[in-house]
Amino acid sequence: MPRSKVWDVIICGAGIGGAIAAEVLAAKGFTTLLLEKHTIPRYKVCGGAVSQEFVDRFKLPDDIIARHVEYLVLHHIDHQVFEKKGRGACIWRANLDAFFTKNAVTAGATLKENSQVIAAHLDDDTYHVHTPNNRFRARTLIAADGVSSTILRCFGWNRFTSDDVAHTITHEIELGETTIARRFGDQHLHLYFGHRVSQMGYGWVFPKRKTVSVGWGCRLSLIRNITKSFTSFLDLLSEELEGGKLVRKAAHLIPAALRRRFGVGGLLAVGDAAGLVDPISGKGITYAATSGRLAAKVMIQALETETIPDAAAVYQSLLEKSLLNGLKSKKTIQTDIYRTEENIHRFLQLWLDNRATVIASSLW
Ligand SMILES: Cc1cc2nc3c(=O)[nH]c(=O)nc-3n(C[C@H](O)[C@H](O)[C@H](O)COP(=O)(O)OP(=O)(O)OC[C@H]3O[C@@H](n4cnc5c(N)ncnc54)[C@H](O)[C@@H]3O)c2cc1C
Repeated sequence: MPRSKVWDVIICGAGIGGAIAAEVLAAKGFTTLLLEKHTIPRYKVCGGAVSQEFVDRFKLPDDIIARHVEYLVLHHIDHQVFEKKGRGACIWRANLDAFFTKNAVTAGATLKENSQVIAAHLDDDTYHVHTPNNRFRARTLIAADGVSSTILRCFGWNRFTSDDVAHTITHEIELGETTIARRFGDQHLHLYFGHRVSQMGYGWVFPKRKTVSVGWGCRLSLIRNITKSFTSFLDLLSEELEGGKLVRKAAHLIPAALRRRFGVGGLLAVGDAAGLVDPISGKGITYAATSGRLAAKVMIQALETETIPDAAAVYQSLLEKSLLNGLKSKKTIQTDIYRTEENIHRFLQLWLDNRATVIASSLW
């Protein structure tokens, strides 16, 4: 049997991190294989909220934006409601991820859908990656396969512990455009805080066009009865959601802690697989995009200069310079913010006029 070709890089997962990494590598002429277990576009549970900075940076076309956003409404369930200016957009992840994946394919990446990676190992400086029907080989490997990363588990990395992930539940509820505008505002994201909602996390209503994503999250180790907690959050919104049609339910984990390392040799982890998520807000789209780009740049240099064994160390130092300080300081204050209702209230007050990174690094 002829041996399969050796790709410059295999990327597992065509989410934000994987698709962006694939585009950057393929555009530089490296043979890039993007393996995705689903068919693109696929539903991905997510609030889909991104900043205007993200919209501009990636030149997102208007037709994939479900709703432009101007305000963040921060509800403390037993105290005040704060309204904060915050320009951005809400996007269905199916559309956003398909946009980035199409860019990767246009740049020259090979996309293989319905290709769930089930095993991977390193042998003789070559990465071997198996799907149920195929075996692939590559000089380098990027784990972009999300919070439960199969790739990283194949290389002996642990799963995130129940202290290090938030469990979320989402209901996609169709209400109609005018009802959404009347009940939630035309350009508003709503976040609901307080221990009656979540011990360490929050609930949210993120409007798309005709549908709202109603979600709830809490640190997994603190959840006693998930159905009861989510139902009582929905009860708080019973008037606003009245007459809505439930079109989809989904549960998913969000990492709330960084990995201790972000790669080994020529294997790099990006996005949720690496734990690169804001531990306070749970936002991870920007971090996945930034780490995807960074990992691709590191791989390009490593492939060009034949320094693949050094890739993980270079990537780690670039992450330190760009993302890690902010995420680490947010992690430091996360537990304290949610310790008392007063602390939550104080955080929301500070958040009105300050970025969370500034609160974490100097104001808390
Ligand atoms: C309920 C919820 C709401 C959220 N809301 C927001 C928000 O509003 N704003 C924000 O910024 N962030 C939000 N996040 C976080 C955000 O969704 C993630 O941080 C982001 O999706 C990470 O992107 P990623 O590319 O690392 O991984 P993912 O988006 O998880 O993509 C991983 C990809 O890998 C594929 N895959 C997985 N395993 C395999 C395998 N074995 N073989 C092949 N392919 C595989 C998956 O199908 C998927 O396409 C939310 C998360 C959740 C759960």
